[in-house]
This record gives sequence, C-alpha cells and structure tokens, in this order.
Amino acid sequence: MGQENYRICSNCIMDTSDPNIVFDDRGWCDYCLNFYKNILPNWHTDTRGEIELMKIADKIKKEGKGKNHDCIIGVSGGTDSSYATYVAKEIMGLRPLIFHVDAGWNTEQAVGNIEKLLDGLKLDLYTEVINWQEMKDLHISFLKSQIADQDFPQDMAFFSALYKFAIKHNIKYVITGANYSTECCREPEEWGAYPGIDTTLVRDIHRRFGKIPLKTFPMVDIFTYKIYYKYFLGMEIVKPLNYVPYIKKDIEKFLEDRFHWEKFVHKHHESRFTRFFEDYWMPRKFGYEKRRAHFSSLIMTSQMTRDAALERISKPELDEQFYVQEFEFVANKLDLSVKELQRLFEGENKTYKSYKNKRYLIGLGTRVMNILGLEKRLFRC
Ligand SMILES: [Zn+2]
Repeated sequence: MGQENYRICSNCIMDTSDPNIVFDDRGWCDYCLNFYKNILPNWHTDTRGEIELMKIADKIKKEGKGKNHDCIIGVSGGTDSSYATYVAKEIMGLRPLIFHVDAGWNTEQAVGNIEKLLDGLKLDLYTEVINWQEMKDLHISFLKSQIADQDFPQDMAFFSALYKFAIKHNIKYVITGANYSTECCREPEEWGAYPGIDTTLVRDIHRRFGKIPLKTFPMVDIFTYKIYYKYFLGMEIVKPLNYVPYIKKDIEKFLEDRFHWEKFVHKHHESRFTRFFEDYWMPRKFGYEKRRAHFSSLIMTSQMTRDAALERISKPELDEQFYVQEFEFVANKLDLSVKELQRLFEGENKTYKSYKNKRYLIGLGTRVMNILGLEKRLFRC
C-alpha cells in the first residue's frame, strides 16, 4: 500500500494495515463504531452484571449437583484465564476442573503462574500434553504454507482438546477468559486471525506439507463445536469476565498480591511461539501488528490513551538481541536450521485462499449469529 493511502483511526490506532477498514466523517474506524453502537450499550459490569453472573452461577451449580465438577476452565497462565478461574471459584462459587494444554511452548512464567494460582485456590489441574512430533509437523506445514495464521496449530490444540475433554466427561459448561475489556477490538482476519477451527484448511495444508500422520492431534471443526456440541450435546461457553469490572492493570496487581502471580510484558506472552510469532514473524514478514488491535481495545475501554499506544507501538516490546535468540530457539525446537527458518521467513506470503477451506460457510454462519444477536464483535463476512 502506498504511503499516500495510509490512514489511521482518530479515536483508536487501527489503520489501513487492515485492508477492509472503513472510516466515518470524523475519521473513526468501524471497530470503534461497532464498540460504541453494539458492545458498550449491552455490556454491564455494575450490579446488573453481578445479578446476571449470579444467575448463571446458580444454574451451573444446580445442573452440576452430584458431579465432581460443574464446569471446566482452560488455563494458560495469562491474565484472562487466571482471573476467570478466580471469578469462577471465589465469586461464582463453582467447582471447576482446571484444564491445561501443553503444546510444547510454555514459558516458565506461565507454568509458575498456573501452579501459584491453583495452590492459592486449592484447585486440581489436568494437563493434556500434545504429541510433540505431530505438533512440530503441523507447525512446519503451516510455516511452509506461508499463510499469516501461524498460531492456528496451537489454538486448534488448545480449544479442540478442551472441548473434547468436556464432552467426554459430560461437563456442560466451559468457562473462558474471553472478554470485551481487552478484546473488544477484534484482530482483523487478514492479520492471521482465521475465524474458528476449519479442519478442511488444516487437512489440506497438512496433506501438502506434512510428513507424518496426525494420529492423536486434537482437531474439532468449527461446525462440530458451534452446532453439534452446542445444540445437540448442550455445551455452553460462559464468559464471566464480561459481567465484572475488568481493568487489566488492576487485575494484574490483584493476582500478584493475592497469588504472587507474575504479569507478562504483553498479551499472549505465555507461549514462547505466540510471543515470537506476534512480536516478530507477523509484523516483520506480513506488516501486521497484533498489538494495534490489543491497544485499540484498551483505548476504547479507557484503559490506555491513544498517545501512550502510539508511543508503545513505535518500538518492539522486547530488545532486538532477545528476538535473535528466540529465532534460534524456535528453529532448534522445530528441528530446522536457522537458515531454513530464515528461508521460510523470506518466502512469498500467501493467504488461506491458496488452500481448500470452508471460509464461505463460516461467513454464512457468522452472519446468522450476528442477525440473531449472538455475536457482537465485528466480523466482516
Ligand atoms: Zn477506531
């Protein structure tokens, strides 16, 4: 894109690196408009939210009577899932089963955080370890596919394993740390945020570039969890953080004081791969800064000023030497030489459109959800 066509929102910092962004007369982007029109009026963290949250809690408790656990929570050690666990146990009074997926990239800090949190809350942890050979094969397949969605394998492992475990153990309620407060500005799809687990896409990429069969890798298609699990098996996703005050820096301080939990430099830094991918691979290979969406969410929810966001995004989160080491670490971990990873980095960028996919059908489904008011974040479909 030419410099002359560059535009940035005058309220948040979303810009034309999202090719489909549109601006109104004031220069506000459609993410901002969506936030003020669709999210904010329906988002209550005062007494109204509390009453709603306790109603949900009562329902979950009642249905879970006689079971070992009344709900399941997937934890990563990051702020959102840590606080969601606290809210579920201490505010809602639930008996959650805590589930963690180890896809091989945990930072020590993430593991430490999970241990401290669960010690403090006296909760047990169930960890599912993904077969590393399969994980690695899928990572390399995705790198070779040259699409921007490089966190697809990890995300798929996390959510698929969680949903499968819940269904297998007859746990109906899945509690997540998803929230408007820090995620109301959705990452544009073009920035590698493919909308959901599309197993058609995964299988096509793996068929072309994979070397070993994926025998144990958890893979649950978007239509399976959004339709079959939800409407036929009754699985419900609960997002408690949308009903309580959730100011990121206050919550980090609270978790530190209460559990000696340690905050991360930036969102998604729990996983060494995600940190590398979002801080290095994405901005430098594709020109997409996921922080732009993260900071814009904080601007819309009055947790950060636009000036502070512009200042912070003008430089990387961590120093250059660190990223050089991480490049080497990621290459070694994937059994690639630094040269091989560098070649993949320099390869021609592609999009999911180069592979078989169900994107059109997912778009149709999302449109229906939007019309029914079940999805309020901005999806362009
Ligand atoms: Zn905006």
